[in-house]
Amino acid sequence: MFSNRDIKNIYCIGRNYRLHALELGNEVPEQPLVFTKPSHSATLMDGNTITLPANVGEVHFELEIVLKISDVYIAGAPIEESIDAITLGLDLTLRDVQSKLKAKGQPWLAAKGFKQSAPLGTWIPFPGEAELGNVDFKLIRNGETAQIGNAKDMLFGISELVKHIEANYGLGAGDIIFTGTPAGVAALQDGDQLEAYWGEQELGNCSVKLA
Ligand code: ZN
Repeated sequence: MFSNRDIKNIYCIGRNYRLHALELGNEVPEQPLVFTKPSHSATLMDGNTITLPANVGEVHFELEIVLKISDVYIAGAPIEESIDAITLGLDLTLRDVQSKLKAKGQPWLAAKGFKQSAPLGTWIPFPGEAELGNVDFKLIRNGETAQIGNAKDMLFGISELVKHIEANYGLGAGDIIFTGTPAGVAALQDGDQLEAYWGEQELGNCSVKLA
């Protein structure tokens, strides 16, 4: 049973959905924009309360498909041999901190890598790349749809992401990849209730405490 303790590297993709890149005033990238979070940022989305920093500006939710790597990717092989599970995760972001870092040209760690910045739902078997695009995923916030996305709308599909990360940084068992968020990101409020759905299947839920 894979647990958060088994996570090695957490790779994340920025601006992988056109409408999300544009909503933040960013250009659409010409190659995958990759950053990482410490493995310590991983937490669960299992009905728990997630405590997040208050007083550092807005904390944004970004719901994303997350891939679990089960084996080294060999160039030319089907990615199905290297990915064995997916879930939905939140790439939580201190947006105001990030804006300041971006303006200074500094790394995003403080905005993206803080503790509990990577809540993860339940892992389900990887259905294959083609099937991913047949299912919408969505974030329900306090009973209302906040984000809805589909892998079909990724600028760089998961094969490209796996190949790019392997070629540049390495990829192996225990690594996970946050594949980018669709449009609709916004600031969390204290007491928010979040639910992450893969089609009709709930993969995780949590409540938010800003403290
Ligand atoms: Zn993200």
